[in-house]
Amino acid sequence: MQSLRFTALENLSGVDLKIKPEQFNGKITEVFGSNVFTGKVLRENLSDEAYKSLMNSIKAGSKIERKMADQIAAGLKQWAMKKGVTHFTHWFQPLTGTTAEKHDSFFTIKSDGSAIETFDGDALVQQEPDASSFPSGGIRATFEARGYTAWDPSSPAFIIEQGYGKTLCIPTIFVAYTGESLDYKAPLLKALSALDKAAVDVCNYFDKNVTKVTATLGWEQEYFLVDENLANARPDLIMCGRTVVGHAPSKGQQLEDHYFGSIPERAYAFMRDFEEESYKLGIPLRTRHNEVAPSQFECAPIFEEVNIAVDHNSLLMDVMNKVAKRHKLKALLHEKPFAGINGSGKHNNWSMATDTGVNLLAPGKTPKTNLMFLTFFVNTIKAVHDYADLMRASIASASNDFRLGANEAPPAIISVFVGKYLFEVLQEVKTRVNNKFDEQDEAILKLDLHRHIPELMLDNTDRNRTSPFAFTGNKFEFRAVGSSANCASAMTTLNTIMAKTLQVFKKEVDSLIEKGEKKEIAIMQTLRKYIVDSEKVLFEGDGYSEEWAIEAEKRGLPNIKTTPQALDALVTPKAAKLFTETGVYNEKELHARHEILLEDYVKRVQIEARVIGDLATNTILPAAISYQNTLIENIRGLKDIGLGEDAVKAQKQIAGKIAEHINVISENVQAMIEARKVTNKLTDSRQKAIDYCEKIKPYFEVIRYHSDKLEFLVDDKQWALPKYRELLFLR
Ligand code: ADP
Ligand code: MG
Repeated sequence: MQSLRFTALENLSGVDLKIKPEQFNGKITEVFGSNVFTGKVLRENLSDEAYKSLMNSIKAGSKIERKMADQIAAGLKQWAMKKGVTHFTHWFQPLTGTTAEKHDSFFTIKSDGSAIETFDGDALVQQEPDASSFPSGGIRATFEARGYTAWDPSSPAFIIEQGYGKTLCIPTIFVAYTGESLDYKAPLLKALSALDKAAVDVCNYFDKNVTKVTATLGWEQEYFLVDENLANARPDLIMCGRTVVGHAPSKGQQLEDHYFGSIPERAYAFMRDFEEESYKLGIPLRTRHNEVAPSQFECAPIFEEVNIAVDHNSLLMDVMNKVAKRHKLKALLHEKPFAGINGSGKHNNWSMATDTGVNLLAPGKTPKTNLMFLTFFVNTIKAVHDYADLMRASIASASNDFRLGANEAPPAIISVFVGKYLFEVLQEVKTRVNNKFDEQDEAILKLDLHRHIPELMLDNTDRNRTSPFAFTGNKFEFRAVGSSANCASAMTTLNTIMAKTLQVFKKEVDSLIEKGEKKEIAIMQTLRKYIVDSEKVLFEGDGYSEEWAIEAEKRGLPNIKTTPQALDALVTPKAAKLFTETGVYNEKELHARHEILLEDYVKRVQIEARVIGDLATNTILPAAISYQNTLIENIRGLKDIGLGEDAVKAQKQIAGKIAEHINVISENVQAMIEARKVTNKLTDSRQKAIDYCEKIKPYFEVIRYHSDKLEFLVDDKQWALPKYRELLFLR
């Protein structure tokens, strides 16, 4: 029987490139947000009273009265039913990393037997999905499976259209009955509210009119596209999201001919299609292009308030997966689907904006607003310096471990790039603010800095792409986030550490003011102290280089390469203090997260180990043995017709090499299985994760090395797994 690989390859030539989205030639603005309950639609479907109450609650982050919830539910139902919606769901982001839905229909039967469609405030505000199968890290024993989802009014409801129907989705948080959060959204909302308060307090030094600060996020989503039939012939892609074996193709990314090249027709059709779906859902996608590796692409939206941006990214990943199916493609969101070429990240561009319309990380137009910029800028550096371990933990996952430090992604060392001009600005503050620093010095320094800062714009071009956390002119870009991650993890940490740093900053400045210091001098002095305290985290050079790892070690910066150890940062007294004082997590929640993340790590590595064992035993070795038999027959035949040793030299050599590789693979698969048995007996999650990392994962490399050698030696026709050259070059 022909292998799946060749069937897939045959089908490939017949792929209909005309699977196109319904020709969409209108304006984006005509469809944008058409499936979202926001803006004009709110006005049309809500009473004045309900509208105002919803707006207030969004602005203040407060609860909505029960009576109003009923009215809003009625408005939502009216809007949704007009659009042909039959079901609704609370949409949430459990710690599995994907989104969750449980659909209920509007349809119900009343006591008198009549059928009606209902949706009331209760159904909008709170639901009780059976939560026993979602990770809880020990917060909930399975026998008390109760958890509930609660409406997040700050993220608008939306409608998902699928082939067979339409569903109204209500963004919610997911919490245990005892109150602990079980999802990504609940802690994120708490972090954003802590940041809002702390940032407003600091803004008020400069501008009393500021009453709200919102953190902003613009993510960039990288992904690979692979033909669906080919992907289906790769159990590793299907089950692990990455290839665990595969010989490097003769042509990889060395010609750099894919980056920003013209987009292949098939990928383009897919993009147009998922973009249109995204527009309807209000996801403001803006850019699309080819990335560095073959078949790698990127899309990015216009930035939004963090909570909404996070929802939009989660939604987008889901939309991409679904739309890819229509195009007989598979979208790979894994951080490292292919060895030897670039992996995928999800850069998180982050800043803060005031309700007076100021981007707090954009250099100001006047000396005074520049001091405000400098304050937020330096506080960010200080936050990252003080909590680098938590930043590292926030991006740790089994899949991101393959990417970080892999020569095309930031290393696991957290450092901050600020660019030449701002580096000089920091140096000026450091040298000029001293004990004798008085009002006049302060005025001159402020003016001097102001003269410096406009040059910043030039600095934009001199980007450092190797830094995990880089200032890019009017925002910081956290580049170490993995492509499959929920941005909420990184964003919760970043906004929490920023909130805490600003709180402490305010205290320190206030105490100087109390001692009689003038406000602006107190600010400058505190900033100077922060610059000195955190300058070791600043790094302007090549983050990919060997020298940086050595230099970072000298500076005492942590370089934690693997997830199990990186996660330790979550359970330190420092983390407990930070997260409890900011109200983002209590200690129980922190320990639960730690546990969940360790378990996730173990499960993922375990699945990979099994897939590798399976593939080696029943796909790779049989191909090698069967080709070996062909060689043996050939050797025998040549000898039968009377040819001597010379005639069979090459065949013998190849057969011998194959035998060696077969032996090594077979021995290592056995050894890996035995090692797993030992590791699986461990009951301590941390130790188990460490053992999976240090005792099981090393087998992957050995098995892969020998399998790739076999792939090179074995007759192409007998190799069952689609090769890199087939997977990577999308036709
Ligand atoms: P690059 O690939 O060069 O990093 P892109 O243009 O692809 O740049 O992405 C930049 C991202 O930064 C976009 O998503 C954009 O919306 C976002 N961005 C711009 N300004 C801000 C801001 N103030 N806050 C958050 N994100 C921002
Ligand atoms: Mg970027």
